[in-house]
Amino acid sequence: MSDVRNVIIIGSGPAGYTAALYTARASLKPLVFEGAVTAGGALMNTTEVENFPGFQDGIMGPELMDNMRGQAERFGAELIPDDIVNVDLSGEIKTVTDTAGTVHRAKAVIVATGSQHRKLGLPNEDALSGRGVSWCATCDGFFFKDQDIAVIGGGDTAMEEATFLSRFAKSVTIVHRRDTLRASKAMQDRAFADPKIKFVWDSEVAEVQGEQKLSGLKLRNLKTGEMSDLAVTGLFIAIGHDPRTELFKGQLELDEEGYLKVEAPSTRTNLTGVFGAGDVVDHTYRQAITAAGTGCSAALDAERFLAALS
Ligand code: FAD
Repeated sequence: MSDVRNVIIIGSGPAGYTAALYTARASLKPLVFEGAVTAGGALMNTTEVENFPGFQDGIMGPELMDNMRGQAERFGAELIPDDIVNVDLSGEIKTVTDTAGTVHRAKAVIVATGSQHRKLGLPNEDALSGRGVSWCATCDGFFFKDQDIAVIGGGDTAMEEATFLSRFAKSVTIVHRRDTLRASKAMQDRAFADPKIKFVWDSEVAEVQGEQKLSGLKLRNLKTGEMSDLAVTGLFIAIGHDPRTELFKGQLELDEEGYLKVEAPSTRTNLTGVFGAGDVVDHTYRQAITAAGTGCSAALDAERFLAALS
């Protein structure tokens, strides 16, 4: 049986690494499970990050995450590139199990497993991510000045992304599978009133085209089967996110969309000694800096919790 650690952190995006940095500097010797495939989190899949403070000329996503990783390691965080596949978070000593079946024990656990944006499931989509295809207008809108852009989706996020992008873009075309929107009336009204926004109804993306960069989309009308071309150099996919909380179902309280519930403004979950940070908690902001910010809060909450035990 392994030693009982002070704190185990599950996740290695900006939230997990920031929590690791803070708990390491507090001499808590955190054990961090980074994930088997996606150590470094969502920013490992992007190119330039221009909105993380401290990098005047921007920084490539993987480089930013390598820096965060190295900074946490420098202060003694122990990092393991593996998935946690089972947890028992209810008792005073929490246990987490890795893919080899080894059980690790700790007095506190920080959950920072992020969220996964939903994909269209088309062949070129991942290859052109950061090369015209994006899931975040706040992150990437600025790169699409005076360009023709498509936004996929019919909910609040899609309308918000479209109205935000219309500030920069030459045109924004919202492509939606139905002939009505799911978005709130206020969001719909704002999109309908925007002269730069047009709609393609009852349609889905059949093909994402381009070699090194996105060059256009092939659309399929779901009522008539008719195919058409849409020449765009930007594609924003806004069809939802899935927080990675499967592992915690039945133990940690989740909201109706599956996000981890915390006692805001703290990062405390419903279970004593378990804290949540980053996109797994946040359906509103979903930025690297906000994830890093709540990662810091979770570390401080865990630190205070552990201090009160001794
Ligand atoms: P994530 O970064 O998603 O990290 C979660 C981590 O948890 C992953 O490493 C995963 O492997 C790990 N994990 C999950 N389950 C387990 C498990 N069971 N066991 C072990 N590990 C597990 N934001 C910006 O501010 N600026 C940008 O320019 C920007 N660009 C983006 C570009 C793209 C393509 C994407 C997808 C997002 C972008 N974002 C950007 C958003 C930003 O990446 C996220 O808000 C941020 O990464 C969230 O951090 P996080 O730590 O909560 O989660």
